[in-house]
Amino acid sequence: MAGILVFVEQREGEIRKVSLQAISQAKREGGAGGQVTAVLPGSGIAGAAAGLGAWGADKVFVADDANLGLYSAEGYAEVVAKAVEQVQPSAIFFAGTAMGRDLAPRLAARLGVGAIPDVVALTVDGEAFSATRPVYSGKAVATATTGGKAPQVISLRPNVFAAEELGGAGEVVALDGLSLSIRAVVKELLAAGGGELDVAEADIIVSGGRGIKGPENFALIKSLADALGGAVGASRAAVDAGWISHSHQVGQTGKVVSPSLYIAAGISGAIQHLAGMSSSKIIVAINKDPDAPIFKIADYGVVGDLFDVIPPMVEAIKAL
Ligand SMILES: Cc1cc2nc3c(=O)[nH]c(=O)nc-3n(C[C@H](O)[C@H](O)[C@H](O)COP(=O)(O)OP(=O)(O)OC[C@H]3O[C@@H](n4cnc5c(N)ncnc54)[C@H](O)[C@@H]3O)c2cc1C
Repeated sequence: MAGILVFVEQREGEIRKVSLQAISQAKREGGAGGQVTAVLPGSGIAGAAAGLGAWGADKVFVADDANLGLYSAEGYAEVVAKAVEQVQPSAIFFAGTAMGRDLAPRLAARLGVGAIPDVVALTVDGEAFSATRPVYSGKAVATATTGGKAPQVISLRPNVFAAEELGGAGEVVALDGLSLSIRAVVKELLAAGGGELDVAEADIIVSGGRGIKGPENFALIKSLADALGGAVGASRAAVDAGWISHSHQVGQTGKVVSPSLYIAAGISGAIQHLAGMSSSKIIVAINKDPDAPIFKIADYGVVGDLFDVIPPMVEAIKAL
């Protein structure tokens, strides 16, 4: 066995932060053989690959091919499977993004091994991982293993594990011997939201719920998010009302986020919303109902009308 293989995601040639988190965590799990190998599929990405050593990769396999510029389940699975053949890792780490959630089980099925998704804590005994993940919309946590068969396929919840610049220099090697047979080709990605920061990537999120009363008041939520350099999130009630697009929804049927700071304004704290944000590091709730369930998990709570509370907050943050 040779340590941990980490699948690295890029978007338009830029490495995603969640993949750096996965590499750094793999490095911290030194017990699994020590060696961390990253595998990066894409097109024109050799330059980006060179930087991965700094985050903990000892070696980087690059699959640079015009057919791999955009995500292809078949193509990317072929790349990771080829890297597995060469590295024989004891575990493969993915970031638990849309791509990771698609690719990890596909690869596990192909290799005939188990997969553990949405992991928030890991312990290692020799080379065997025990992984902790929230279940039943975050009402309970389960600890699972893949039954000892290598490689153990594990996807890490974004923003739970820190990316750490360790200052190493990974060796970059072209991944040879690929035979790509891609039947379903993604032609184009159309980003919604005109370049807005994605909630799944953001370190600070300000979310609005039914309490903001109407779509025009997302401007108030956005003013706070902008002042903090964060992204705008929403509850399902706000999304279902047509006030904001589903790409902003946080929760069981939206995105799972773990930012450093999550501000919930006019959100009651239904279990399905908590399922998407309860692992945030600091939670601030603004709600006029002192008995709103969101206050049970909030680190800081403001009982008040969000229309009175947010404007002076924005002013104070700008003044700082
Ligand atoms: C299968 C399933 C999946 C679901 N998935 C999701 C999901 O992914 N994400 C999600 O969010 N929900 C999800 N839901 C819906 C969830 O159950 C709740 O209905 C929803 O989260 C409620 O949204 P809300 O908190 O914005 O609205 P409400 O529950 O109506 O709460 C509004 C809050 O705003 C407060 N308020 C009102 N006016 C003000 C004011 N002026 N100032 C301050 N506070 C004010 C009120 O006190 C109240 O607490 C799901 C439900 C189901 C059944």
